[in-house]
Amino acid sequence: MTPVLLVLNAGSSSLKFQVFILGDGEEPQRIFRGLFEGLREAPHLRIRDRTGTTVADEDFGSDGAFGHEDALLHVAAWMRAHSGGFELVAVGHRIVHGGMTYCEPVRVTAEVLEALERLVPLAPLHQPHNLEPIRIFRRRFPDLPQVACFDTAFHAGQPEIARLFALPHAMMEGGVRRYGFHGLSYAYIASVLPAYDPALAAGRVVVAHLGNGASLCALNRGASVATTMGFSALDGLPMGTRCGSLDAGIVFYMLREMKLGPDEAERMLYTQSGLLGVSGISNDMRTLRRVAAREPDARRAIDLFVYRIGRELGSLVAALGGIDALIFTAGIGENDAATRAEVLRGAAWAGFELDDAANASGGPRVTRGPGPTAWVIPTDEELMIARATRAVLSRPRSSRPQPAL
Ligand code: AMP
Repeated sequence: MTPVLLVLNAGSSSLKFQVFILGDGEEPQRIFRGLFEGLREAPHLRIRDRTGTTVADEDFGSDGAFGHEDALLHVAAWMRAHSGGFELVAVGHRIVHGGMTYCEPVRVTAEVLEALERLVPLAPLHQPHNLEPIRIFRRRFPDLPQVACFDTAFHAGQPEIARLFALPHAMMEGGVRRYGFHGLSYAYIASVLPAYDPALAAGRVVVAHLGNGASLCALNRGASVATTMGFSALDGLPMGTRCGSLDAGIVFYMLREMKLGPDEAERMLYTQSGLLGVSGISNDMRTLRRVAAREPDARRAIDLFVYRIGRELGSLVAALGGIDALIFTAGIGENDAATRAEVLRGAAWAGFELDDAANASGGPRVTRGPGPTAWVIPTDEELMIARATRAVLSRPRSSRPQPAL
């Protein structure tokens, strides 16, 4: 039987998963990518193999009963039935928050799970959904090793000054500090930089992870030194539906003057703001680009997104003391040449010189001239999780860090 890893990224109504063969010594090899959407509403499963061919495309009953547990059991059964010779040896999970304790991937035990549950208040819209499949697997397959990989971990080595809010010190001690997110994406980009240009790996680089969630990260010699997301995944850039940086006074205004409850206010900032809120049309950049010429509100949303990237970029260049390269990644960064062009034109002050033809064809290098360079590099958070899961499993048990929380 060929040993395989399952990599999971669970959301409120979706379950993204990938299956990797554990090669010996080499990189884990991806064999399937799958997505369950519409859980509890109109569940739909699609699985593609490594050539991109769809190998499963199914709807499930829409009586509201088919949730995460059914989805996971279905995936496990599908692998058993379909693969004829694959053995599931471990599950790697994308977990949004590792708090102050978990600065690297960790094998899940009862204590680890309890500690991660205590972090729910720090990421209430993501952490509970990330943890749900862990609980399900522990119940259904108690002997199956599970590894938690954290979006916060890559930023744990930032200088303290980059992690502080100007709040009373006791709040910092109590965990109110900048954590940063999208760390699996940034860790992946840092790992492949040398293959694009060895000088970049040793230089000052800003990575722009521009997807439905969006943030920037400053890398110095491949290590995170500052990032735009802070205590929560709400901070920094405007996103598909999230507001990004906001004057904290607005929250008090929403509560006192607009009489919103905390849950309503939170919902507005997380799900009704960003590109969707400003445009009133869509959170999807493809849609906004399609209609921008005739819909001023769509144009305004794009302009604000690009403007905020430019301002945050300036702040990270200051934190780095200069910039050698800018990397675009994730859905918008990898695919939307117009956003890349607008960002790079706005950053001409830093010496970027856009190469229109290279940008239109997707790079990888999209600048020319002697100034800093810009690149398009596809991210691969799932591969990072597969690598980390394999590494944790191969550690002797005694050397595994014990959770201290
Ligand atoms: P992600 O969260 O990384 O999957 O990215 C989702 C975002 O990428 C959405 O705003 C999509 O509209 C955007 N996106 C994906 N493909 C394209 C494309 N070809 N052109 C413009 N935006 C795209």
